[in-house]
Amino acid sequence: MRPAVACHCGQCRRSYSNFAAFSAAQRGDLLIEGEEAITWYVSSPGVRRGFCSRCGSALFWDKADNDFVSVSAGSLDQPSGLTTLCHIYTDDKADFYEIGDSLPRLPQGQEDPWPREAREARGGGPARGD
Ligand SMILES: [Zn+2]
Repeated sequence: MRPAVACHCGQCRRSYSNFAAFSAAQRGDLLIEGEEAITWYVSSPGVRRGFCSRCGSALFWDKADNDFVSVSAGSLDQPSGLTTLCHIYTDDKADFYEIGDSLPRLPQGQEDPWPREAREARGGGPARGD
């Protein structure tokens, strides 16, 4: 799985009450058990978000064009083995917290949402659903 990306966009802020941390899995590697409990909704054109209809946990961010599906890093069993790659959409960050690390901060999204160095590192941590 890809290292986590901390997303500070307004949609994540409203869904998570703060920023969201998303890892990602290649679409072909992702197996969702209990998918009948996942409710999907279109959050932007071509993008859907999935949450658990039983407990309300936000779980997925899925852009149809991508060859991967973003997975809520906080939903993974701990220890996840993940690290954080960067912060995105920092222009939309809420005003009640400061980013306290020295990771890259992108005012908008990433040009390459799965950078080569992250692909080569294979993201650390066990892949879920294998
Ligand atoms: Zn976001």
